[in-house]
Amino acid sequence: MTMRILVVGAGIAGLAAARGLRVAGFRPDVVEELPASMLPGAGIFLPGNATRALRVLGLDAPLRPLGDLIFRQVFCQADGTRLFELDVAALWAGVGESRALARADLQQVLLTGVGGEVRYDTAVTDIQIVDGAAKVEFSGGRIAEYDLVIGADGRRSTVRAKAGLGGPATPTGQIVYRSVVNGGPQLSDSTVLLGERSSFTVMPMGSRRLYCYADETPEPGTPNPDDPLARLRELFAGFGGPVPAILDAVEKVQVARTDEVVLDRWSKGPVMLVGDAAHATAPTLAQGAAMSFEDAVVLGEVLRARPDDIPGALAAYEVRRRPRCEQVRTRTRERDETRDVSPGERDPMLRSRGQAIFADQYRELARPV
Ligand SMILES: Cc1cc2nc3c(=O)[nH]c(=O)nc-3n(C[C@H](O)[C@H](O)[C@H](O)COP(=O)(O)OP(=O)(O)OC[C@H]3O[C@@H](n4cnc5c(N)ncnc54)[C@H](O)[C@@H]3O)c2cc1C
Repeated sequence: MTMRILVVGAGIAGLAAARGLRVAGFRPDVVEELPASMLPGAGIFLPGNATRALRVLGLDAPLRPLGDLIFRQVFCQADGTRLFELDVAALWAGVGESRALARADLQQVLLTGVGGEVRYDTAVTDIQIVDGAAKVEFSGGRIAEYDLVIGADGRRSTVRAKAGLGGPATPTGQIVYRSVVNGGPQLSDSTVLLGERSSFTVMPMGSRRLYCYADETPEPGTPNPDDPLARLRELFAGFGGPVPAILDAVEKVQVARTDEVVLDRWSKGPVMLVGDAAHATAPTLAQGAAMSFEDAVVLGEVLRARPDDIPGALAAYEVRRRPRCEQVRTRTRERDETRDVSPGERDPMLRSRGQAIFADQYRELARPV
């Protein structure tokens, strides 16, 4: 009998999972609570292991014309003085290219990979596990039964809650500001300026646009700013390098909080989680999409290997994916802890050892999944 599979959420993880399942010979239903017209804003950085997984999913060709390749990442003090450089191209040599692009463009590539078959304006509102199958209720009251439900519904996952796999995500305390800047200074590298409990990252993302990502870790309880653009300008007013010219050019800023999701298990009976629903971290290492793509590759492989044994396939999936996602979480936390070190102490250490430390953090991820 054909396996009845539902993917909940048509974000990066959901569309990638649906593609991985299609490549493995399955034909999942995909539902998304938002309307089709809702396109993601901002940009995204995809390191080499993300593009490698997209290659396995057969989606590297449509990605190639999009955005800009990133060959180098330059780390600087807040005033723009260079601390060290990471040779991104060398780091991911033989793995994949590193690329910055518009999120909407990536979404389109992934959507093409599932033949555009997404049911929009459709939320999953409840799940019950009955006799080994999942009975799913959708907005509007429709009920359908599936052999497997993949929860790709993000860090605030309804599937996670309804299946009893975990509670709310844990806030990391970071506030993140993102913007796409047209024009602005001409940059070819990704540049990261490290302040005190704050940082500003900027990279080219094609068509003379820059993707800017800035963060701060304020005192607990600090609310989101009423005017994110004003706060961004205030926060980074004393920064050097390309920042002043960017702050002059920036017009619109998105503000967000980041969360972590840490779970003892990712599946219960026929319900399993992928992407941020299972293992969200702060985006410090830009590994969220890469982990979602790798999830998709492994999901397809384990189900193809054991089409008649869903529990066995899901167990095999966790064995392969957990160490990798834990590694990303550990490295992310380590990086984020350096935010609490004063620049006076941190910067000399980074000048002498930053290159080796940061390269090591990514090198582990260059290993195949
Ligand atoms: C500020 C920020 C910057 C980041 N930068 C990077 C980066 O540069 N590189 C990188 O690799 N990663 C980055 N990430 C992480 C990356 O965006 C995520 O890890 C990745 O998008 C995977 O998300 P997801 O698809 O699991 O969840 P989401 O993107 O949250 O998608 C979940 C989808 O499910 C839908 N949904 C939710 N509930 C339901 C329901 N009940 N029924 C139906 N649909 C539902 C939602 O509408 C949404 O479309 C960043 C994250 C943040 C917050």
